[in-house]
Amino acid sequence: MKQKNTLLIVDDDPLNVKLMAKKLSQHQYNILMAYDGETAIAKARAESPDLVLLDIMMPGLSGYEVTEILKKDPNTKDIPIILVTALDGTDDKIKGLEAGADEFLNKPVNTAELLARVKSLLRLKLYQDQLKARVHFQALVASPDEMKKTQADRVNLPTILLVDDCEKEIRLIKGYLQAEAYQIKQASTGEETLSRLLRENIDLVLLDILLPGMDGFEVVRRIREMEDARNVQILAITCLQDMESKVKGISLGADDYLIKPINKHELKVRVKALIRKKAYLDTLRDDYETAVYSAITDKLTGLYNRAYFEHFLKLEIKRADRQKGQVALIMLDIDNFKQCNDTFGHLAGDEILKTLGRLIRENIREIDMAARYGGEEFSIVLPNTDKQGAITVASRICTLVYDHPLMPDCVEKNIRLSVSIGLSVYPSEADTVQRLIQNADRQLYRAKREGKNRVCYVCEPECGGGLKVSSSDNPNF
Ligand code: GH3
Ligand code: MG
Ligand code: MG
Repeated sequence: MKQKNTLLIVDDDPLNVKLMAKKLSQHQYNILMAYDGETAIAKARAESPDLVLLDIMMPGLSGYEVTEILKKDPNTKDIPIILVTALDGTDDKIKGLEAGADEFLNKPVNTAELLARVKSLLRLKLYQDQLKARVHFQALVASPDEMKKTQADRVNLPTILLVDDCEKEIRLIKGYLQAEAYQIKQASTGEETLSRLLRENIDLVLLDILLPGMDGFEVVRRIREMEDARNVQILAITCLQDMESKVKGISLGADDYLIKPINKHELKVRVKALIRKKAYLDTLRDDYETAVYSAITDKLTGLYNRAYFEHFLKLEIKRADRQKGQVALIMLDIDNFKQCNDTFGHLAGDEILKTLGRLIRENIREIDMAARYGGEEFSIVLPNTDKQGAITVASRICTLVYDHPLMPDCVEKNIRLSVSIGLSVYPSEADTVQRLIQNADRQLYRAKREGKNRVCYVCEPECGGGLKVSSSDNPNF
């Protein structure tokens, strides 16, 4: 069952709390209530609600102060706050946004707008929570240095795309934002906006809702469908005062709203808040991607690791089932590697593993997948490949290794390294992932038994199934 979201409603007037609770409880939310700032903070800390609806004017701590305290506390800072106010002045809004509030609602509260705002903030919170949970999980496998790397890379100025068909309006907004450290670009139609979002790095779209051609609402909807533009913030600008269009914009996915004529200070504060939100989401995403990358790759060779190899092989086998195709699997093990380590040292051994990883990657197709299966053992998945194809690839790699000096000392001392390889194909030789791996492994051990430096596979009945690829045995070890 889907878990219900919990909302904390704070107002010094119990009647207001009751009214709001009634509106919201019809929509499957758990409701917590508080009638003053101190209790609100205590409840937020104890119960971690998913969202706080907070009255500004209260005796004791005001809504601004409560906001500031919650946003400074690491345990509560990610809980979205909607300030609910009878004040309609721009200054009050600016003060609230500066304290860290995420949103505003005017009293008397319009039910449709309340629900749209709550829903949109909960959606954002869910996305943040998911990313954070994954980052936390993946951080266990990624090194702190890697986690930091991508954050440090981000040095570009935040980029804003101004979308308006009126040149005068664009000049006005540009003037307002002039003193800020933003890079500002402009577009005059919805179509242009969408195509630029695909090609360029944009952090915030300042979007006039009334556009010729595709209207602003449609642009908002399309942006939200773009997977790559998921974190892009949208600030809708309109001269439409009516509640309906405001609610429509928000429920389609706009992050915030400005009504014309635009107030310079309000514009600046809202833009700043959205840019901050975008940077935060990007950091989470970058951390997640870095963490994912390091969770699936082998650090030494840069190839995929065993866990990802198994995952990938399963997917390829499912695909082969659907498309009635084949998948070939190659297992490869370095011959006499222990002696090699003993002779040249472990560091030299590591260098050899790296070089071999590169050699393998450079000699397979883009769609093939090479992984370090363990120690000095590698595996290669060849999608859409029949047995003959796999034999060709395996023989090529076997020969290359024998001919290729895998470390400088090898040339000096005229030492050759070699590998033993076993292969198998799905589905003609194996009907499950496990059996495919087992078969290839068995052939690899046969290659070892039969003298190493060779490729082995199950052959048609009359043939022995062994293929010796080099003309001489490895004389060194
Ligand atoms: P065989 O020809 O039968 O495969 O013999 P082998 O010596 O290659 O195989 P064995 O399994 O006896 O030894 C594998 C060696 O691989 C032992 C281990 O020290 C080395 N090895 C495994 N992982 C690494 C690594 O990350 N770096 C280095 N340098 N050596 C490794
Ligand atoms: Mg070995
Ligand atoms: Mg081994």
